[in-house]
Amino acid sequence: MSATPLIPPAPRALGVAVPTPLRKLFDYRPCQPAPAGGWQPGLRVRVPLGRREVVGIVVECRDTSELDLASLKPVGACLDSEPLPADWLWLCHFTARYYQHALGDTLHQALPVLLRQGRPLEARTRERWQLTAAGRAADAASLGRARRQAELLELLRQHPRGIIGSVIGAQGFSRAQLTGLASKGLAECVDELLTASSARPGGGLLAEPALTLNREQATALAELHQGLERYHPCLLQGVTGSGKTEIYLQLIEAIVAQGRQALVLVPEIGLTPQTLSRFRRRFRAPVVALHSGLTDAERLDAWEAARAGRAPIVIGTRSAVFTPLARPGAIIVDEEHDGSFKQQDGLRYHARDLAIVRAHREGIPIVLGSATPSLESLVQARAGHYRHLRLTQRASHHGPARLELVDLRGRPRQGGLIPPVIDAIRNTLNDGGQVLVFINRRGFAPTLACHACGWLAECDRCDARMTLHRQPPQLTCHHCERQRALPEACPDCGSADLRPLGTGTERSEETLAALFPDVPVHRIDRDSTRRKDAFEQTLNEVRRGEPCLLVGTQMLAKGHHLPHVTLVVVVNADAGLYASDFRALEHSAQLLIQVAGRAGRAERPGRVMVQTLHPDDPHLRLLADSGFDALAKTLLEERRLAMLPPYRYLALLRLESAREADAIDLTGQAATALRDWLEERGLTVDCLGPVPAPMERRQNRYHVQLMLSAARRGPLHEACAFLVGWLERAPQARRGRWSLDIDPQTL
Ligand code: ADP
Ligand code: ZN
Ligand code: ZN
Repeated sequence: MSATPLIPPAPRALGVAVPTPLRKLFDYRPCQPAPAGGWQPGLRVRVPLGRREVVGIVVECRDTSELDLASLKPVGACLDSEPLPADWLWLCHFTARYYQHALGDTLHQALPVLLRQGRPLEARTRERWQLTAAGRAADAASLGRARRQAELLELLRQHPRGIIGSVIGAQGFSRAQLTGLASKGLAECVDELLTASSARPGGGLLAEPALTLNREQATALAELHQGLERYHPCLLQGVTGSGKTEIYLQLIEAIVAQGRQALVLVPEIGLTPQTLSRFRRRFRAPVVALHSGLTDAERLDAWEAARAGRAPIVIGTRSAVFTPLARPGAIIVDEEHDGSFKQQDGLRYHARDLAIVRAHREGIPIVLGSATPSLESLVQARAGHYRHLRLTQRASHHGPARLELVDLRGRPRQGGLIPPVIDAIRNTLNDGGQVLVFINRRGFAPTLACHACGWLAECDRCDARMTLHRQPPQLTCHHCERQRALPEACPDCGSADLRPLGTGTERSEETLAALFPDVPVHRIDRDSTRRKDAFEQTLNEVRRGEPCLLVGTQMLAKGHHLPHVTLVVVVNADAGLYASDFRALEHSAQLLIQVAGRAGRAERPGRVMVQTLHPDDPHLRLLADSGFDALAKTLLEERRLAMLPPYRYLALLRLESAREADAIDLTGQAATALRDWLEERGLTVDCLGPVPAPMERRQNRYHVQLMLSAARRGPLHEACAFLVGWLERAPQARRGRWSLDIDPQTL
């Protein structure tokens, strides 16, 4: 006896999340007919909104509304036959609540563009059906009165390689007829992955054998194997080249062997063809990549393959944390400390933090990997919340190179480099090695200066200097992209003695090319790699191993395997030492270690020379003499004393306005309202501000901020919710733009 499916009676109102910045649901009347499975949260619907029609997502099904039920506008159409996955919805709800962002916009951003636009979910139409061996042997007559099933059997028989579900539907067959054949064992559905990389033929999961792990790796992997079936957060801290990726690969192997899926998150510039090919070389199973180079259709395919469980391995950048998985097995966040995991505008989420929340909810292991973990993750590991796994040895024979601090004071410089460093470069090149010169300023020089009166080229829209570029020659503001022609003479005093101040990548490139005319110099920064593939082309050339010089920004520092580089030069390590942002030191230490990690990855040992005006700076010394762990320990202690994250929780309200006074006024009013409210409620949340943002004027708009800080998340979130409510109601808030950043990464 078959049970009649329970379809709930149609609700009288649907609370729908629509893509607007408003933090509320919009109520609609259900349309007729109801979707096959009844109205449920997670169905996409087309609804009227003002004069537009938009795609929204049903969030609540109820019989009441704050509006008159009779006056509700009806839903235009329901777009789905089944709701979006429940875990996905849950994650979006969590994200919207935690980051105090409108649910409608959160859901919208977490969907591939084509689904936002109302494209059908194609799970069924992408299924391929074919006859089983029994079906091929069966006689249509044996199906008796099931005449349509007999016809379907014949149709399938004419297509030995199977037919796509939607094509069968278009021939007038129903799903019930298909499943009828399937239940008799005559037909089967073979999932088809339409994404470029399909499973390669051959037996087994692996296309190439896994490496034999060294002892540390084996211990770490054994630990991971202990927790395959549950939430099991691990911080995998391993020096660059210690074989973290090999551990990811072997963990994924175990997960996929169980028929489950692995999600790998990598930093924005970490998703290189090199990374992908490493994963694809290893597995026969398809590796689906979600990156910015995909077309909307490809992105939808990849998303859909993950959702339907056809993609066993999904690799993507930040937003891939929202990719639904049919059979989640593990999440890996590589370079977990990387800043690109935090979205800096709109929905300001942190993909690593959401990945943890998601793994917890889905009951699966998560690995956070890094050579230089964030202080946040280190604190969790110290407290025993994360298992701390360590790899201290490089897989090759050489340990990571030591940082040599080189005193810049009082030494003549050429292109930012002092004579002993230039000598070291020469020796390395003569020995057949490659040299990487790291300089975190693109352009020719950070600015142009008048040597007669001290004038500096400043942006007229920002509190910032304009960068001097030579290719092509002009001044550019890196904050608002304003460009100006080079002045012939000083606008203040008329002197013609204008000179570049400081060194950027273009200037280093020029100097090095003059110093070493026989060796190719490759510059790698955002300007030199605008053309697609230019970066990969250069890297491929470099990997051939001829002596050469690489000059670049942090684009070069991260993730790339440059086996022939034996000398790394850091032109100036000082930017992060005395910056106002409390995370600056942490971030520059991570970057330095990462850059240093490019040296000596293959057979030859490496050397790292770090130029500085502050060779006695205690933090820099600690990093150079004792390594990242020692520095991290000190930084943690300093953060604890200063009551800063990860020992406190922060939220930052940013306000901007065309008039400085407006921005300050409004922030001040918000602060007063908040302080009154906190006092009334007896909540302990510190509220600092209004204070001007570190760069107050940007694009001629004034930025003012209010920082909230608390010992616990709860009160902080209540305070944020209050602020959001106040700003949404305050008429004066319409004169400026505001945003709230929970767990801000930069102040
Ligand atoms: P990480 O991700 O920590 O930077 P990788 O996994 O990229 O390190 O490993 C660095 C290099 O060492 C790679 O070329 C890798 O193939 C190699 N390697 C890693 N583990 C082993 C091992 N157990 N035996 C031999 N080579 C290894
Ligand atoms: Zn002047
Ligand atoms: Zn500007």
